Amino acid sequence: MNEQTTIKKSVRREKMATIPDKILTWQMVQPTSRDRETGEVTPGKIEKTEVPVPELGPGEVLVEVAGCGVCHTDLGYFYDGVPTVSRPPLTLGHEIAGTVVAGDEAWIGKEVIIPAVMPCRQCILCKTGRGNRCLNQKMPGNSLGLYGGFSSHIPVPSIDLCEVKDRGEFPLSHLAVVADAGTTPYQAAKRADLQPGDNVVVIGITGGVGQYVGQITKALGAKTVVGIARNQEKLDRSLKYGADFVINSTDKDARAISKEFRGLCKENGLPTFGWKIFEVTGVKPGQEIGLALLGFVGKLIVVGYGLAKTEYAIGRLMAFDAEVIGTWGCLPEYYPIVMDMVLNKKIDIGPFVETRPMSSIVETFEEVHKAGSPAKRIVLTPDF
Ligand SMILES: [Zn+2]
Ligand SMILES: [Zn+2]
Repeated sequence: MNEQTTIKKSVRREKMATIPDKILTWQMVQPTSRDRETGEVTPGKIEKTEVPVPELGPGEVLVEVAGCGVCHTDLGYFYDGVPTVSRPPLTLGHEIAGTVVAGDEAWIGKEVIIPAVMPCRQCILCKTGRGNRCLNQKMPGNSLGLYGGFSSHIPVPSIDLCEVKDRGEFPLSHLAVVADAGTTPYQAAKRADLQPGDNVVVIGITGGVGQYVGQITKALGAKTVVGIARNQEKLDRSLKYGADFVINSTDKDARAISKEFRGLCKENGLPTFGWKIFEVTGVKPGQEIGLALLGFVGKLIVVGYGLAKTEYAIGRLMAFDAEVIGTWGCLPEYYPIVMDMVLNKKIDIGPFVETRPMSSIVETFEEVHKAGSPAKRIVLTPDF
């Protein structure tokens, strides 16, 4: 055994020594519920508790959590009656960065991002390149049993982990945003078949995911990015992060926006056809704007989720030779690409992330739920 292996082994042993007996966690004991008949609301409950460390099978690892981002999906589960696949009690959180401390030897000691959705790698969707929408996928804080990211540790399969290398001055906790907010837009751009020179509209460019859609489409070579949202301050900020033009949609209907958009195209010598429009808000006014802007050979990519029913004369798609496309999650194989874009500052996460102690989870959920769209993605760091 040479010296280096001895060192490696002892580092490993040291890491092994940090394997906990229990996982400390902020568990969603029950989500907010509303009685169908009386309309009475029973508040949801998140409590600090501990759960056993499970036996790790082949190809599984235990990750010590450095940070877990608060996503709108978590709030949907906790406040809005969106059901989790694994029944509560369970721990929410799917935007996770951390360090492998046990399991698969090859991974021990490595810093990783855990993809928000992990495909099964067995089914026909996985085998035909559609693994991001695999029906047997595992998502921490939803379909990974009781395990989620708002914890000290989490057991996960190792196959799709994204290793973080040479992160320089980036705190590992900040890179948690790559697990969801930063990668969903990349998948959306792939789904849109985004090409250098394309013209892009981002509806909801000021939101946590929307601003990354602006940055990523620009970094991938979009010629023009037009951002649409209501908050002027954040719209102005987006001009520094991807957007070339912005339209403030406050108190304007889809028709007014469409008129303004056409004016903008005319003034700047841009075509009115072929735009790739990313709808990130998930709400009806945003969807209406997207449909109103959809023109000849255009694409509307639905990135935001909501339950609104929005009317549209579908026949126009035929006349326009246009498309409306949905997009879900992100293939794990794209993670290293997005990580690279972040570490090489092709996309900037610094101004859009804020860390807080995990013990602030209840207040933070409350605050983000009320604010709708916080100025920065909040990443909770374990402080058990
Ligand atoms: Zn999410
Ligand atoms: Zn699958």
